Amino acid sequence: MNNKKLIEKNIVVVGAPLDSNSSYKKGAALAPAKIKEALHCDSSNLWTEDLIDLGTLSGWQIRPDIDVSDEKSAFNQIEGEIDNLLKENFKVITLGGDHSITFPIMRAFAKYYKNLSILHLDAHPDLYDELDGNRNSHACPFARIMEANLAVRLVQVGIRTMTGHLKEQVDKFGVEVIAMKNISAAKNLCFDGPVYMSIDLDCLDPAYAPGVSHHEPGGMSTREVLEIIQNLKGTLVGADIVEYNPEQDLNGMTGMVAAKLLKEIISRMLA
Ligand code: MN
Ligand code: MN
Repeated sequence: MNNKKLIEKNIVVVGAPLDSNSSYKKGAALAPAKIKEALHCDSSNLWTEDLIDLGTLSGWQIRPDIDVSDEKSAFNQIEGEIDNLLKENFKVITLGGDHSITFPIMRAFAKYYKNLSILHLDAHPDLYDELDGNRNSHACPFARIMEANLAVRLVQVGIRTMTGHLKEQVDKFGVEVIAMKNISAAKNLCFDGPVYMSIDLDCLDPAYAPGVSHHEPGGMSTREVLEIIQNLKGTLVGADIVEYNPEQDLNGMTGMVAAKLLKEIISRMLA
C-alpha cells in the first residue's frame, strides 16, 4: 500500500465527553479517553483490514477533547469546534459522549454540505420530540436534526425499539428505517453525495458491546457493522461513535470494538 498517495486527505479525531443528556445512566463522558487508550493498546496494532498502517500515516490526527465542562454552552462549544475543523477542510470523526452531541455536530456540517445524507446505526430511532422534558435528550437528536433540515436523507439501520410515537416521527420526517429484523437490506444501501455516519454502539448486540447504557438484545455483530462501513456506497465525509459507557464495560472489550470501528472508518475515508 502506497501511503504517500493518501497523505493529503486530512482526518481529525476529536472527543466530545458530554453525558449530561443521557436519560438512564451517565458514564459516556469517560469514553473518548478509553477509546484512545484502546486504539493504542499493545494487544493490537494500527493496521487496518485494508492494509493501511495508521501508525506511520500522517493523514490523520487526534485533537484534544472539546471543552464541554459547562453543560449550558456544551452544544455551542461542539458546533464551534467542528465548524473550525470543517473550515480547514478536515474530515471529522467525533468520539462521544452520549448521542445528543450529533445535533450540534450536524449544525456545523450542514453549513458545509448541502446535500448531506446521514447513515445512523442504532438500536433506537432517537426521534422523540422530547424525553423527560429534555428536548436535547440523547433520545431526541434526529428529531432536532430533521426539524432544522440539516440533512436531505436520514437512513436508520439496526432499529429494534420502535413505538407508536416514534413511528409517527419517522413518517413525519420521511426517515428510511431498516429495522434489525430486515438487516440484510442494509447491503443494498446506496448514497448520492456526501454521507455522515453516526454509530451508536448499542446498534451492536450487547453480547458484542456490553459497555453501553441501554442493553437492547437482538442486535448486530461487530462484523455486520464493519461490513456496512467497508462496503458503504457513497462519500464518507464525517462520522461519530457515541454511547460507549466504560462504566458498563467488561474488561474494556467494548472500548476495543469502538477503536476497531474508528480504525476502519479512517481507512474508509482514506480510500
Ligand atoms: Mn441507542
Ligand atoms: Mn442513539
